Formats: sequence, structure tokens, C-alpha cells
Amino acid sequence: QLAPNVRGAVIVTTPQDVAVMDATKAAKFIEKLELPVLGVIENMSGMACPHCGGTIDLFGTGGGKKAAGDLGVPFLGAIPLDPEMVKASDEGRPYILRHADSPTWRAVDGVMENLIEQIER
Ligand SMILES: [Zn+2]
Repeated sequence: QLAPNVRGAVIVTTPQDVAVMDATKAAKFIEKLELPVLGVIENMSGMACPHCGGTIDLFGTGGGKKAAGDLGVPFLGAIPLDPEMVKASDEGRPYILRHADSPTWRAVDGVMENLIEQIER
């Protein structure tokens, strides 16, 4: 409400049904501010296993896509929980410096590309 020149809002949700309900409430609030909802991101969409690099299905997947579909806004993508990203944040080093070709970074990059596309529209 206080920020000037806001182009729109992005809803970040986790994959579970209850989070999707919260995302829907957030979207309704954003609409009251007469801001466009640029899309939905599903965060904590699986977890990158620190041992084998495989994906652990922590909270399920698909809630973000479902919320986007219900709201009629774009699904911007899903980002996994990655212990390496937590470590990078704690060390104050950008994650991309050491993990530019990881599946997690590809997911983040894809979400950013989709978001830029929505802003440009
Ligand atoms: Zn593993």
C-alpha cells in the first residue's frame, strides 16, 4: 500500500491445500488494492536431497499450479527447498556463485524469466 510504482504482486505459496487457500485469500486482498496478480510461485516444491541430488517430496507438489488455475493467473514455476541455498544465505554468498548449473538454480531462473515476461506484458 505504501510502495510507489508497483507493477503487480506475486503470490508465493507452498504445495499443500491449506497454503493454496491462503494464497487465494492473498490474491483477493491484492485485487482490492487494484494491483494485477502477476502469477503464482510454488515454493518448497520438493527438496533437493543433499546426499544424492534427487528430489524428496516433502509437501507434495501441484498446489501452486492449482491455485494459479483457480485464480486465472499465470503459474510462474516451482522452486525446491535446497539446503545449499540455506547455507549460501547464512554465509552471505549468492547461491548462484557455486550452483549456477544446479536444478534449483534452473528452477529459480525459469521463474524469473516467466515473471519478467509477465511484467513486460
Ligand atoms: Zn538422496
